[in-house]
Amino acid sequence: MAANSDEYSTEVLIIGAGAAGLLAARELAAAGRRVCLVEARGRVGGRVHTLLPPGFTQAIEAGAEFMHGEVPLTRSLLREAGIAWQAAEGQTYQMQGGQLQANADYFEQLPLLLEKLYALATDMPLAAFLTQEFPGEAHAALRTFATQFAEGYDAADASRVSAWALRDEWAAGGADDSPRPVGGYGPLLHWLAAQAQAAGATFHLATPIQEISWRPGAVEVRAENGATYHARQVLCTVPLGVWQLAAGQPGYLHVVPEIPAHRAAAVQLGFGSVIKIILEFETPFWHDRLPELEFLLSDAAVPTWWSQLPAPTPQLTGWLAGPAAHHLRDAPAETVLQQALESLSYLLATPLAALQAQLRAHYVRNWGSEPYAHGAYSYPTVGSAAARAALAAPVADTLFFAGEGVYEGPYGGTVEAALVSGQVAARLVLARYSS
Ligand SMILES: Cc1cc2nc3c(=O)[nH]c(=O)nc-3n(C[C@H](O)[C@H](O)[C@H](O)COP(=O)(O)OP(=O)(O)OC[C@H]3O[C@@H](n4cnc5c(N)ncnc54)[C@H](O)[C@@H]3O)c2cc1C
Repeated sequence: MAANSDEYSTEVLIIGAGAAGLLAARELAAAGRRVCLVEARGRVGGRVHTLLPPGFTQAIEAGAEFMHGEVPLTRSLLREAGIAWQAAEGQTYQMQGGQLQANADYFEQLPLLLEKLYALATDMPLAAFLTQEFPGEAHAALRTFATQFAEGYDAADASRVSAWALRDEWAAGGADDSPRPVGGYGPLLHWLAAQAQAAGATFHLATPIQEISWRPGAVEVRAENGATYHARQVLCTVPLGVWQLAAGQPGYLHVVPEIPAHRAAAVQLGFGSVIKIILEFETPFWHDRLPELEFLLSDAAVPTWWSQLPAPTPQLTGWLAGPAAHHLRDAPAETVLQQALESLSYLLATPLAALQAQLRAHYVRNWGSEPYAHGAYSYPTVGSAAARAALAAPVADTLFFAGEGVYEGPYGGTVEAALVSGQVAARLVLARYSS
């Protein structure tokens, strides 16, 4: 309800229209709360961004793409929205030192690694664990592969990521079953937004929030454009990367009075970078060398690639994550594109000029330098369960927190994590509401 043109009053203000904020908005509005959702970007979705850039013939995913594992809430919402999903298909290849292997058991030493991980009495960072348990030249390949996997899949820094958390993830084989929502994740998030709005929630897009001033039961939130929001409760779903900013950095979110325990918890957690490079070619010319290519894992500068199989679109997606992506977070898109093409030239044994002649469209998304994200997704560090709980803890039944970064459970760093955290936080907001 507008008091004047730039002053608004509501019961619950939600900051952030990603998966967590949208699901919470739907739940709270459906429960009869007056809900206003403010979002910095001019679109909903956050780290879900399905788009069709010029030159592409099939929509691409700049952010989330796969459903990693069972993801029960995601599947149930997709069903409710009438959106199907489709298994990825094809062959996994590995290329190391110029040697190409089809259907490679790329993690053949996993049983040995797990045996040592289960014997580990105290948690420690992966890098320290590998040095301790697998020293010397004999284990160099195992150390390299475990490090590449943690950096590539979890976008983690091996010197910080928790060995115990990786043990649980690797033992569960989470990366094995990874379908995609048909048409991308975007339609699911747009559907959630429409549901929230149909239940009465109002959305203010292109409204970056700068400051949250609070006392029990009353919050004043100031946006960059001068708008002010008054609410009894605020649910903040900004990414961990925003909470990790230091005072004075662009995008820093002021909280008055400060919430030091939350800030301290945020910096204990890991938040990795990812660069996605999506290329569409005239033809799927790689079929000759890599028939039925689904995934390609390698030692190239841009090491991981995948196709869109079973969709026949001649698209390849390059993936650079963890410290290597962080290192390039300020690199121009052309530099990243050049590295990607050079990597592909090596992997496909095809001259650069031939690749460029085939290239129809390209898209580079560098999440480490993206405002309102400052990274891609969180990863578990030693002691991160306590830190996540501290970051998720409500303040005076007035400030609440959600988003994949505060989720603790088997689906860390995913859309599922964000959705679950949004649902949990919405229920907490309702339970702590005093009339
Ligand atoms: C490259 C990439 C690939 C991924 N791949 C997968 C995958 O295959 N499968 C999977 O399940 N997950 C994947 N993820 C993770 C998944 O996208 C996220 O976990 C999930 O989308 C996070 O949702 P969220 O609501 O927690 O945060 P977000 O989606 O980031 O939403 C937070 C919102 O807050 C807004 N915001 C930030 N600051 C402010 C401010 N000051 N004022 C107002 N609004 C603000 C942001 O603009 C954003 O819209 C991937 C992520 C990336 C980046």
